[in-house]
Amino acid sequence: MSLFTGVGVSSGRASGPVARVAEALPEPAATPAPADAAAEARRIRPAAEAVANRLFERAGVVGGEAKAVLETTAAMALDPALLSQAEQLVTNNALPAPRAVHEAANGFADALRNAGGYLAERVRDIHDVRDRVIAELLGATPPGVPDLDRPSVLLARDLAPADTADLDPRLVLALVTEEGGPTSHTAILARALGIPAVVAARGILAAAPVVGVLVDGDTGSVETSGEPVRTRAAERGRGVDWNGAGGTADGHAVSIVANVGSAADARLAVEAGAQGVGLFRTEFCYLGADEEPDVRTQRAAYAEVLSPFEGRPVVVRTLDAGADKPLSFLDMGTEPNPALGVRGLRVCFERPGVLDRQLEAIAGAEQDSGAKVSVMAPMVATADEAAWFADRVRAAGLGRAGVMIEVPAAALTADEVLDAVDFVSVGTNDLAQYVFAADRMSGALAGLNDPWQPALLRLVALIGQAGHRLGKPVGVCGEAASDPLLAGVLAGLGVSSLSMGAAAVPAVGSALAAHPLVAYQKAAEEAKNAPNAARAREAAFATLQ
Ligand code: PEP
Ligand code: MG
Repeated sequence: MSLFTGVGVSSGRASGPVARVAEALPEPAATPAPADAAAEARRIRPAAEAVANRLFERAGVVGGEAKAVLETTAAMALDPALLSQAEQLVTNNALPAPRAVHEAANGFADALRNAGGYLAERVRDIHDVRDRVIAELLGATPPGVPDLDRPSVLLARDLAPADTADLDPRLVLALVTEEGGPTSHTAILARALGIPAVVAARGILAAAPVVGVLVDGDTGSVETSGEPVRTRAAERGRGVDWNGAGGTADGHAVSIVANVGSAADARLAVEAGAQGVGLFRTEFCYLGADEEPDVRTQRAAYAEVLSPFEGRPVVVRTLDAGADKPLSFLDMGTEPNPALGVRGLRVCFERPGVLDRQLEAIAGAEQDSGAKVSVMAPMVATADEAAWFADRVRAAGLGRAGVMIEVPAAALTADEVLDAVDFVSVGTNDLAQYVFAADRMSGALAGLNDPWQPALLRLVALIGQAGHRLGKPVGVCGEAASDPLLAGVLAGLGVSSLSMGAAAVPAVGSALAAHPLVAYQKAAEEAKNAPNAARAREAAFATLQ
């Protein structure tokens, strides 16, 4: 047994077999030319058949949609045109087999992308087949989340949104990553699934082969073993008692709302008792798309997510592309420092049509779903940007416009920003990374991205005071809102709505109902003036005991 300590980001204990998420293989080299081109070309078909057979085998044991997806991918691996093109690239152009498969598959992918519509949606599948066949030729593990055939703990360097889009939550016991911070996608996903997770478990990937693992998402400890360990899932929703009315013990209202990215999230949020949606991350509807979905497609996708909230308030965030969420159809080129580059609303200054089409689709989805829609923009830096966005929202016939405060400049000018819009919502995940100049995906910097950092709390206090002065709502939709103790502190700093993954809703709602507002104001004052994050947490805990 070896013990690793990381940062616990999603509560609970679980144990079981390990499934490693393999990292992307480098692009195969075009040299050296094979000594025997005919023999090299003959390696391609058996490799593709081995890939297809494994996929067909798995298709035989699963049902429904998963079966169809596996069978389609297997058939693509055996596509005669793809295989003969790759073979010709070996024999005619003297390419090594992995490179030939890479080029042939990319040629197919380009053709599908140009065909558009349904065919363009297959580009991801072609890339998947390409990577599997190349890995087979190289004797390597294909990149991405492995195909799980039993409940397992996923072990990864880090998880990107696209890696996790097709995860089967019934088969994932817990998540452990070597990198990542408390606000990384791994943390967000784990909380959404209600499973334990530990990030920044430094050194775990280099450790001797890990067979079984015990994960404690509260303490951040990960025990690894070279032997199998008992499979045990975390208990979910441990008996939290909440009456569903968001607010403090003395009746000060604080809405308890949910972060959602899909129709399934929305249903879970309703079941958990969320009073509405505080953040609908619309980019998750675009992630697999190779071209911009048309207005009708977007409208239907948004309406599906919003319908469970008929008659209730929902905040739809416009596309937050760029940085760690690149979208292939936006073709934004490479930037030396994408987190500080053209991301979020900045993408739309150059392409206002993308925003206008999205707003049209959101307005349509409001009618179709009956939800009470507000719209907000990500990554806003100035009051002028906020005003530009609000004008476009109103021109689209949507009633309420807001912006996220994720950039320190917007926090420091919160009065002016709020003056331009109807509400703001603090994205503490990005605000922390920009305040501390600490990449939110970096395991080494996880401590700086701790939402209890007093510098972050002081900025939230500034925004809360601005909201009070202007009589406009201030929400928090970053991961900070899902910590039941911190939720009270945020309310004490003047925050009027807390938005979080569905799994956290009952615990935050009931914790907030435990004390009157004045107690939270006192806890907030203590935490904000503490010398560091650990002391801030202790001070709030001691005050509220
Ligand atoms: C945030 O930055 O706090 C936020 C909620 O946005 P995202 O995590 O999607 O960047
Ligand atoms: Mg953000």
